[in-house]
Amino acid sequence: MLDGHVALAGRHPHDFTVQYPPRREYVMDHFRAPAGTPKVLEAVASARRLLLYVHVPFCEARCSYCNFAVDTHGTPERQARYVRALCTALGRLSGAVRRDVEVPGIDLGGGTPTLLGMPLLESLLEALKPWAAKSASPFPLSVETTPAVAAHEPDKLRLLAQGGVSRVSLGVQSTAGAVLEAVRRTAQVGQADRALAALRRAGFQRVNADLIFGLPGQGPADFAADVARVADAGVDSVTTYDCLYRGKGRALTRVTPSLPTPSEYARLYDAAYEVLTARGFHAPYGSLNFSRHAGETGTSPYFEGRLLDGLPYVGVGNYASTLCGGHWGFAPYKVDAWVEQVEGGAVLPLSDLYALPPQERVAKQVLLSLSFGRLDPARFQTAHGVSLQQACGPAVARALEEGWLVEAAGEYRVAPGRFDALPRLRSLFYPARAISWLQSNGPSLSPLTSGGRATVPAAAPR
Ligand code: SF4
Repeated sequence: MLDGHVALAGRHPHDFTVQYPPRREYVMDHFRAPAGTPKVLEAVASARRLLLYVHVPFCEARCSYCNFAVDTHGTPERQARYVRALCTALGRLSGAVRRDVEVPGIDLGGGTPTLLGMPLLESLLEALKPWAAKSASPFPLSVETTPAVAAHEPDKLRLLAQGGVSRVSLGVQSTAGAVLEAVRRTAQVGQADRALAALRRAGFQRVNADLIFGLPGQGPADFAADVARVADAGVDSVTTYDCLYRGKGRALTRVTPSLPTPSEYARLYDAAYEVLTARGFHAPYGSLNFSRHAGETGTSPYFEGRLLDGLPYVGVGNYASTLCGGHWGFAPYKVDAWVEQVEGGAVLPLSDLYALPPQERVAKQVLLSLSFGRLDPARFQTAHGVSLQQACGPAVARALEEGWLVEAAGEYRVAPGRFDALPRLRSLFYPARAISWLQSNGPSLSPLTSGGRATVPAAAPR
């Protein structure tokens, strides 16, 4: 019954990433809900546990692998107006949620939040304090920064540490200058060591380094050198990302002559896994997150709540997403459009809204959970109110039969050495409707050729 899923993922592995749904057009075709926010807001207002994401879109330049909602025209006035709107929106939302709501995790991401000037950062941290006070997590507030900022702006790091930021995630991505230049991260070249040392000095409780694998020109030895360098710099955790070539808006996809195959991704991942576990980091095989600390996954409480526990989340800022009570919404994409709606009195402006049926929510969360190399039946039952067996029995059975999952410690884990099978493993959890849609609408990238490598169309659809 799942043969069609596996066959499609075998031909088009780059369409079966950790992110679900397969493409935005799929949810637009099937689950669009009338615009407006009352139902979402009702769900947010009644949630007992709620994760918070705050988006700061400003970046100096767009990296060529990035398809986030990024704004590279952030004049000081524009940034100030945006931050005022963020603080207003956070205050309004604070008044709308339950007084006893628990907020397990808050991520301040982007973009590059630390591009903001000190006074703006300070006011934003102030607006986040009432939210952090609702958390029982030891490290509730996590902020993303870049090597260039962390290496050269110690005052900003002090401000973050004193303003309640307990975890910082540094977007190292690569330690090789040529690789960074090839993906338009020129400002970050040669900054990682100094940045990591500065973060340690600033006294954050947890420092994480992000690294990408599958970038052009990067072999297993290069990626092993990247992870060894950040691990030896004393970080608490390392998050590895397989470079995604799927979807619109990634310039890299249009210029890369041949995409990494699943086996090539696996060789890169395996090299990192060996280096990190030999240095005392732990993770189930297949997990993209590694931690030095027992009992921790290494990711932020916000992401852990979203990915492993399927908790509802609310997003503040342009194009931030909210998923609560089965309603999945996106704030207006453009910075000005979002700001204008907040200035006009909106509590949670959303321009795209979808009503996701349970099967879609399950697929979304199972795929994210697999990015930790595991499916935990107990956490699944708590999140979805049905057992993993009831919701995904045939998919789990097929994955066990194929040797892509194994049973260990009361959960299902990615089988050691089978990172290459992840696209096919993920496809098993796609609802049949999503597979049919992909079959009739065409996956976004060309199939693997008989030589085993995918080719990028000269003009990939945008
Ligand atoms: S710094 Fe991060 S958010 Fe900004 S363009 Fe690069 S990858 Fe995207």
